[in-house]
Amino acid sequence: MTTMSGIKFSIIELGEVDNDQAWNVTGMALGTKDNPNPPAVWWRVPMIAILVQHPEAGNILYDSGNYLNNNIDRLPQALQEDFPNLMTRKDYLDVQLKEKLNMSLDEIDAIIISHAHFDHLGGVGFFSGKKAGQNVYISRKEFETALLATHQNPSGLGGAYFKGDLEFPDIEFKLVDEDTELFPGIEVIHLVGHTPATLGMVLHCGSGQTYIFPSDAVYTSLNYGPPAIAPGLVADTLGFSNTIRKLNKLEKKYNAKVVFPHDPIQIKQMKTAPYFYE
Ligand SMILES: [Zn+2]
Repeated sequence: MTTMSGIKFSIIELGEVDNDQAWNVTGMALGTKDNPNPPAVWWRVPMIAILVQHPEAGNILYDSGNYLNNNIDRLPQALQEDFPNLMTRKDYLDVQLKEKLNMSLDEIDAIIISHAHFDHLGGVGFFSGKKAGQNVYISRKEFETALLATHQNPSGLGGAYFKGDLEFPDIEFKLVDEDTELFPGIEVIHLVGHTPATLGMVLHCGSGQTYIFPSDAVYTSLNYGPPAIAPGLVADTLGFSNTIRKLNKLEKKYNAKVVFPHDPIQIKQMKTAPYFYE
């Protein structure tokens, strides 16, 4: 790995969804003899993107949030039943970049997509015809999975993959085949579990501190443990266990901090945009 002096990042909050905790963490409302049918527990979950400022590569986004009207009528209604979207217009990437970081979409140079679910990939739609739209990195295997899933039924929805997110005009996807250092100090690593090929990001910041972003391969600190607890929504449970081991090793190797993507607890302990971690 390369240590690149000057790399820093900011956490951009992109609205919230409500959902049953069991999607994120299994066994949260287990019954007992005296209380055999406890009610499902719902919680409010943040959505985020990461803005990385790199001294050579410029402004790089890790994930992009939802595309316009995902909170209204763009996605099939069935999805709103499980994951009611609480976003308003101001929670989308374009507005948050401007309001929190005083940045325009034109100032973004590249985008790394962790996985192709609608709350991570959709925001690339803001970059049609823009510089960053020509530099969208995603795992080849994830891209193939999403294409297949979204072409199997007329609704265009396959799990949390949405066909429209893959078809924005004038977007160029650059396919990543293996774990690699995309830019000096910015590594991407394949994490199996949530999807077949979620790309985590390992960021070696200017201060010498390393941060690991597992995206939805590990939703929350509760999943990470120890002990690790699998999410309810998982494509590959064995893959999830391997992912935890892979992350544990990296965390130890770099004395890294892990930043989770949908963690209602951790987000309150972190500083978000306009603050930068260095
Ligand atoms: Zn997600």
